[in-house]
Amino acid sequence: MISILDSRMTRMQPGKNASLEIKNLTTQNEFNDYITQVKSPRLDLEKKFSAFGRGKKQWAVPGFCEVCEKQTLFYMDWNFSDQQTPNYRERLVCPSCLLNNRQRWVMTYLKCALKVLAPTPAVYLFEQTTPFYRWAASRLSNTALIGSEYLGFAAQPGSLINGIRHEDAMNLSFADASLDVIVSNDVLEHVPVYERALEESARVLREKGKLIFSIPFYTNRDETSPRARLEHNAVKLLLPAEYHGPCLVFHDFGWDLLPACRRAGFRQAQMLLYYSPGFGYLGNGCQFIFIAEK
Ligand SMILES: [Zn+2]
Repeated sequence: MISILDSRMTRMQPGKNASLEIKNLTTQNEFNDYITQVKSPRLDLEKKFSAFGRGKKQWAVPGFCEVCEKQTLFYMDWNFSDQQTPNYRERLVCPSCLLNNRQRWVMTYLKCALKVLAPTPAVYLFEQTTPFYRWAASRLSNTALIGSEYLGFAAQPGSLINGIRHEDAMNLSFADASLDVIVSNDVLEHVPVYERALEESARVLREKGKLIFSIPFYTNRDETSPRARLEHNAVKLLLPAEYHGPCLVFHDFGWDLLPACRRAGFRQAQMLLYYSPGFGYLGNGCQFIFIAEK
């Protein structure tokens, strides 16, 4: 599934002085085997980076932003961290595109995926008021781009409210097989019934269409565990409430997510691991997103 990235890597690496390692896999055993092999030198390097930030409010890590296609200084601080190790997944923010580690990789993957599609592919982002959407809207000019936010129970899917489109991930307004790519950056954990959101994404994607998504994911868990659920439009907490910004977390995802993607109508679903100090992709020895293909 990632052959588009293989061809890109051979083009990109020379001259940019950065190596990128990517790997796709589908099971916890494969993940454990991989991380055991690669972890030690990577965590040593990250410890050195972390030590550099000790006692500082903010600092910079040099690297090449694949989104902006230029050398830059990625912004670091201690936000979203345990104050011992910085949160590399959420930081390493490029000062030009304003995207963090995982968002830059998702955008890079999206740019590669678009290259092999027919002209003017229909791309839908589960966000509209973010730097990610703004960058896509201003730079991905050869796509039919749609973004949306969730604007509450009462809003009609597909409607515009003050210029912002409302969509409910569990009840999308798009026609069947009408989109080529969907991008979801840390959204699914906030959807009350994520299986329904996966079914809806599969429904509105064309054959071979891709759902590119990131989520907080527990690599040591077989099963996804619910933190909360909706009962008659009221939230019932099953575990102490956890919020990302204003959004309640409904699920802590584990490896049964991948078979859930297949049950929802995707032909295949994989975890895509990526790591590169030179491109500012650090944290826990490897980072990852998910790709589901219809
Ligand atoms: Zn950038």
